[in-house]
Amino acid sequence: MVSRVIPVDDFDLVIFGGTGDLARRKILPGLYRRFCAGQMPETARIIGAARSEHDTEEFRQLVRDAIREFSTKNTCDEGQIGAFLERLDYVQVDARGSDGWDALKEMMRDGVVKAYYFSVAPSLFGDIAERLQSYGIADESARIVVEKPFGRDLDSAKKLNADLAKHFDETQIYRIDHYLGKETVQNLMAVRFGNILFEPLWNSQYVDHIQITVAETVGVGGRGEYYDRSGAMRDMVQNHLMQLLCLIAMEPPSRFDPDAVRDEKLKVIRALEPVDHHSIVRGQYEATATEPSYREDAGDPRSTTESFIALRCMISNWRWAGTPFFLRTGKKLKARTSEIAVMFKDAPHSIFGEEAGRHANVLSIRLQPNEGMTLKVTIKEPGPGGMRLVDVPLDMSFAEALGDDAEEITDAYERLIMDVIRGNQTLFMRGDEVEAAWAWTDPLIESWEKRGDMPKAYEAYSSGPEEAAMMLHREGRRWREIKE
Ligand code: NAD
Repeated sequence: MVSRVIPVDDFDLVIFGGTGDLARRKILPGLYRRFCAGQMPETARIIGAARSEHDTEEFRQLVRDAIREFSTKNTCDEGQIGAFLERLDYVQVDARGSDGWDALKEMMRDGVVKAYYFSVAPSLFGDIAERLQSYGIADESARIVVEKPFGRDLDSAKKLNADLAKHFDETQIYRIDHYLGKETVQNLMAVRFGNILFEPLWNSQYVDHIQITVAETVGVGGRGEYYDRSGAMRDMVQNHLMQLLCLIAMEPPSRFDPDAVRDEKLKVIRALEPVDHHSIVRGQYEATATEPSYREDAGDPRSTTESFIALRCMISNWRWAGTPFFLRTGKKLKARTSEIAVMFKDAPHSIFGEEAGRHANVLSIRLQPNEGMTLKVTIKEPGPGGMRLVDVPLDMSFAEALGDDAEEITDAYERLIMDVIRGNQTLFMRGDEVEAAWAWTDPLIESWEKRGDMPKAYEAYSSGPEEAAMMLHREGRRWREIKE
């Protein structure tokens, strides 16, 4: 299978916060890989813009080091790093002052795509947007890319949206949720809407329930104090898990175009029912013999912030009424994995008798590691001895199915940045989607804050608190095992 690289138009990409952690770990190595893949036009340029004092040579050295450290696959040979670095410039700007803005304006070319990546704290979004306009740097065709977190509640998200809307049209704003750039997530849409096989079964008549798990093995470590102000609900559920929920639950859009897709996602969020406290389990990891507890990591012995959350959500529409969606995410769990599992109902009647056991199909979609899909089907156990049934996986590992090309499965950031240059907003969140997600999330957070609910302790590197298991157990269901 030969993967095609479709070149993009010539561009000037400015990365505000170009010396920061995200730029060094994801954005710049991602651009380098696109360069190696031959997707960057010969004259395309990347301009780092940040508060720190550097000249272009120093910035190039910083990027060289970042590529060496963080880009392990899909790279070209060492000699080509130099050619890539030639595309880089640097300008020192102060997002809150006047330094550097005239110089930045001077650097921008006419007649190319202009994109501005705000890889800085959200408190600077409004300042940068305002200066891009007032210094005449961004024109009507310019695009801006903003990072999460997009607000910490509905009010702050509305304010961010309003600050950006003063200077940019919604069609120019690209709100990144890197989960949407993952190959498997897009494949989820291809599987659902490119095959006739699944769609007729994709509803409450045939689906018993759906589980979405994003498990991490790392704790909050050095980011403890920062994390303690948000917690798993704000940090993961409001954005990544809800986006996955939307893609799995949405109606088929009439076209694969940005607004058609985002309209359908928005309808799912708006159809989510409020969740009562019996259907939410929050947790905090405990200390191990050698590692601190969540509260120690957070630097607050009385912290009530959750490092784990499990929720039972219901969607009030014709397709999904009666089918629960279980969401679960946490730190210091037993494996690092992200998975969506569609748990189908049992066959309505077993012609093979009780001894054959009950078997239900499961479609599991793995986002990481080893992106791929597995469909569990029931077959006859081989050999004599009557009709005994056994479940076997029909396993499609993308790495195996695509052979050498799997190496080229692009990282989410690479794909999304190229989508920005192409002007394709399909995989970016629209302002109203983000607000709708907060409008659903806020009352849940308020309710546990008002009740004074305490997170349950869970053993580090386990599956989370016992109460999360009980939540499913009460209704005769169980979580899938957390494993790589
Ligand atoms: P960072 O602190 O490492 O870098 C911040 C960058 O902003 C630096 O380049 C700094 O020079 C620049 N900056 C700060 N104040 C400035 C000012 N007044 N004027 C101009 N430049 C200024 O932060 P980061 O980890 O790279 O995160 C950047 C954004 O991306 C944040 O919104 C963060 O929440 C988000 N994000 C980060 C990650 C990650 O893995 N680091 C993941 C998802 C989202």
